[in-house]
Amino acid sequence: MEIFKIEGIILNTVDFGDANRVVTIYSKEFGKIEVNAYGCRRARSPLSGVIQMFNQICAEIKKSSQVDSIRDADILKFYPNLTADIERLSYAAIFFEIVNKMTLPKIVDIGIYNLLVNALPVINKKNPQIAALIAIAQFMEFTGFQLNFKKCVRCGKIIEGDASLSLTEGGTICKNCSHGAVKGYSYPENLRTTFETLLNFNWKSENQINFSLRQVYAAQKILFQYVQNILGQELKSIKFLRQIQG
Ligand SMILES: [Zn+2]
Repeated sequence: MEIFKIEGIILNTVDFGDANRVVTIYSKEFGKIEVNAYGCRRARSPLSGVIQMFNQICAEIKKSSQVDSIRDADILKFYPNLTADIERLSYAAIFFEIVNKMTLPKIVDIGIYNLLVNALPVINKKNPQIAALIAIAQFMEFTGFQLNFKKCVRCGKIIEGDASLSLTEGGTICKNCSHGAVKGYSYPENLRTTFETLLNFNWKSENQINFSLRQVYAAQKILFQYVQNILGQELKSIKFLRQIQG
């Protein structure tokens, strides 16, 4: 029997059979993996309570010619506020659904792993909308689909002052190039500053997360739309957030 150990964060779970779950884990060692957790929904199972979305776990995985399975697991960290507060939960779920949908299996990326590890406690404790937005903006930088927030995508000049932003062209368009007509968003200077602050945010610092609500909503609208354009679908978690916010 071949066993290997991982440390990871549970991105998603899907129930199957009487008491089992398919578990998607973003692991430090192997990137995103999918494993089965047999019996984990039985109250008496040693995996009961461990195999939940958002938990950071260490686990022993049994290799199989079909789907590998979790033999044993322990919780390293869990985030009780996420399950106690539905709005907090939905912002965390949006971040996780984006990471899950936009990563390929078994590609190791310690940057993504660290982002998950660093962002979760902040989403759990501080303003979840802003924390999730920072996490999503920073995650997109790992995907190869990052928007260019600083330079004009047409002429390459560093943007100064107000500009436009085109999702189809991949970022900012300066005033000179736009000739007043760009299919996209207006991109005023204060929104650009907001994006720069999101991207440079250091999770380890005790900095207050301070943004104007207006800029946060503008940035969120752009990022959510952009991700959904790339994926070609509406995300379940974004739809859910809309429902609970009415
Ligand atoms: Zn330009």
